[in-house]
Amino acid sequence: MDDVQCFCELIPKIELHAHLNGCIRSSTFRQLLSSPTDQTRLDTLDKEFSVGDTHARMANVFEKFSLLRSCVTNLDDIRRIARETLEDFISDNVIYAELRTRPRSFHNGKIPSSSYIEAILDIMKKYEEKICSRLILSIDRTQTLEQAMETLKLAENYRTHIVGLDFSGDPNIKSFERFRPVFDLAKQINLSTTIHIGELPDKECINENNLIIDYKPTRLGHFNFRTNDQEQRVLKEQIPLELCPTSNLLTMNLLDLTEHHFDLFYKNKHPLAICTDDSGLMNCNLSSELFQVVQTFHLTKKELYEFIFQTSNLIFDKNMIEFCQKKLNIFSQQSNLF
Ligand SMILES: [Zn+2]
Repeated sequence: MDDVQCFCELIPKIELHAHLNGCIRSSTFRQLLSSPTDQTRLDTLDKEFSVGDTHARMANVFEKFSLLRSCVTNLDDIRRIARETLEDFISDNVIYAELRTRPRSFHNGKIPSSSYIEAILDIMKKYEEKICSRLILSIDRTQTLEQAMETLKLAENYRTHIVGLDFSGDPNIKSFERFRPVFDLAKQINLSTTIHIGELPDKECINENNLIIDYKPTRLGHFNFRTNDQEQRVLKEQIPLELCPTSNLLTMNLLDLTEHHFDLFYKNKHPLAICTDDSGLMNCNLSSELFQVVQTFHLTKKELYEFIFQTSNLIFDKNMIEFCQKKLNIFSQQSNLF
């Protein structure tokens, strides 16, 4: 194996943008699909995965998500997804991971969303020795304000392991303004926030970018489509970005990373994290994402190390920064980096 590729695999890594359901192993996804109709639908979606423009590709991803959502029907399913996700991150030498998920209930509310959260947190605690993992709760663009408020309350109730609030879902629905009160409350209680921004090239999406930047979340996700002015504001205000190479290439319809905005922000020494988004659905892992970046932009091993080190400052659980940096220090000494 390539020496640099090997280095990307061995270096302790930090994952900050991973949707728990999107991390599902494809074998598990297939097993959870009960009907032959769903199986056939997944086959078709897989085949059409990288076809069409940004809108078509996004639609494909979101249809997969809703198919996945329909086949996760009980707490055992989500426990299994959480367990396998953490195992996959551990074998990829990820030392700290923030996983995000939208709380849900099962069996018409008989199993409440608090049980869903607890099931995931239990698994996270079981793996604590091998990986430090934290949860971010997602508010979906299609939800009601009331549901979003419930999500905020849930986050408040489990503050030790829930470290933030995310805003995500189908970007065709421009609803950040509607949820702004919830995100204002999050700020008031010092709960970190991360917002998906600039996912579509259309005018409404670009306009919504301004509202999101005005709010100034703790971190931003993607920022694929933006104006020069928006770019300058994010640079000036130093709002950290979570960039997900494979996912971004797919939705931006790019062949490789050369035109990806990593370069621009990296050259400006902007706070950045490289992440996987949906490692299961996108068939990638954090090592392969980093390797792509290193190869395209010719980063040295030392530069990659320094890059991951600066990412450690962006984690939501500030108590764990020292833990991450210690692990990285040990690794640098062992590999004679400096
Ligand atoms: Zn995402």
